[in-house]
Amino acid sequence: MTCGCGSVFAEDVDMYDPSPELSKFVQSLPKTETHIHLEGSCPFEMIDRAFPGKYPDGPPMWADEFRYKSFYEFMDYYVEFCEGVFTSAEAYHDCAKKVLADCASQNCKYVETSFHVGSLYSGAIAGPELVDAVLSAAPEDLEVRVVMGMRHNDYEGIGKEIIDDCLFWERLWGIDLHGPEDYPLEPWTAEVWKAAGAAGKFLKAHAGEFMPASFVKRCIDELGTRRIQHGVRSVEDPELVAFLAREGIALDVCPISNLKLAVEGIKTMSDHPIRQLFDAGVTCTINSDDTLMFGNYLSEEYYALHQDLGFSEQELARIALNGFLVADWDSPKKDDCIAELTAIIEEKDPS
Ligand SMILES: [Zn+2]
Repeated sequence: MTCGCGSVFAEDVDMYDPSPELSKFVQSLPKTETHIHLEGSCPFEMIDRAFPGKYPDGPPMWADEFRYKSFYEFMDYYVEFCEGVFTSAEAYHDCAKKVLADCASQNCKYVETSFHVGSLYSGAIAGPELVDAVLSAAPEDLEVRVVMGMRHNDYEGIGKEIIDDCLFWERLWGIDLHGPEDYPLEPWTAEVWKAAGAAGKFLKAHAGEFMPASFVKRCIDELGTRRIQHGVRSVEDPELVAFLAREGIALDVCPISNLKLAVEGIKTMSDHPIRQLFDAGVTCTINSDDTLMFGNYLSEEYYALHQDLGFSEQELARIALNGFLVADWDSPKKDDCIAELTAIIEEKDPS
């Protein structure tokens, strides 16, 4: 499989087969990636190096028809494939180098990527060292933000110490709540998110992927986040959809991830609610989430929207533009991307 730009990502997978015109158009769009987990996007060659010959046919998750039975099964696969790889800052550097180079090769200009706090529990890697390892892997023309993700129940013991400490790591840009969404949202979360916001950290949360719309609203109200990871089940509550649109709260959506994880209501890509959310004026970005776990890549998310959800080229450019509108990036380079996308949108829509 190629991204239309010559880079091979996963030989076994070819979920979408874009026309040369579409492939060229998507490649031409300056893009962002604001929802990608490093561990779940580990290049397969790193796993093959860590466990030689263990997966002669490549990851089974890359098959088009593959579906996880639940998020818990996803976590089992994640542990099987990824645990044992991320034991050093060098491993994060190597992973980030490939992941970020793949982003750049798809004309992506701005990336927000996360790592899991649990990788720091052994004490073998210091948090600021890990952040530096990722940032130093960025290609020259790619702006990168690093986020530390944590589960609902990570605030205890060493986890609590690290989470409290991370607010002082200068180069850590933000925090994210991830892991099983149905774990209770514990009281510490609101306190930590408030302190992190006061310390200048960007606030994210995974919500509305497996839990209903009410959990999205709860994360907005209790954690003060204005950027939801996934958030697709917001569609179940028209009032919430109107609220998200009115308040400009953005959803970092990952359509292929949602399909392969069989998120409620998404049996085929044409069921995906991003069409309704986008049409209702909600600021949606599209992203790849975990490229190892789903066998996908950023441009493929654009092909999915075009092929299965009827997004026109003009709408794809609007989706790309959303990424820059939500990016925490104060630079003339961002202004250039916005101007370029605005020109494409105007050209595609003469009305
Ligand atoms: Zn995610």
